Amino acid sequence: MKLIERAKQLIPCDIVCHEISLAILFNASRLPAPAFWPESKGSYESGIIVPDLRVEDSIEAMIKSVPDDPCMIPALENLLKQNHIIAANEVMNPHLYASFSILHELGHWYHFQENYTRRGLNGQKYITDYKEIQLKLELEKIGELAKKAKKGSQEQIELLSEYHKLYRKHPFEIIADQFAIGRLKEQMK
Ligand SMILES: [Zn+2]
Repeated sequence: MKLIERAKQLIPCDIVCHEISLAILFNASRLPAPAFWPESKGSYESGIIVPDLRVEDSIEAMIKSVPDDPCMIPALENLLKQNHIIAANEVMNPHLYASFSILHELGHWYHFQENYTRRGLNGQKYITDYKEIQLKLELEKIGELAKKAKKGSQEQIELLSEYHKLYRKHPFEIIADQFAIGRLKEQMK
């Protein structure tokens, strides 16, 4: 199954979903993962973008795109374990990863609609607020330190792990994570 088909199953049809090629994402220095567009950009209406990938390849494409960061998928795996979506001895599978990442973006979308669009605030304000909190959390600082650390060293792994932990403490990310976890739990019933 393609990621866009899964997205259309999970996302209400009134929310625009765009399938974007990996080449376009790569040129825009974006990860091959779902994302949301707060505001219309060029020919794209605001909505959720999904990379042109098969669900089965979603984890592998992500791992390949961040060869220096082996902590990204384990960080998500931990989050899902903490929330009892997967058992402690289980590993993340591409289907769960795809569903989680699509629902996470849907969570961002609803947060944006409720707290910004409905209050007459635009995508630019959302991005400014996001970045301001990011700065307070010193996310970029740790990200930079991780980049500078020796590749594959214990120090780098620790910094990356810290980075991902902090990333998931960003209040906007918590909202999106909790939304996705809630939906996954509903599906498990
Ligand atoms: Zn997010």
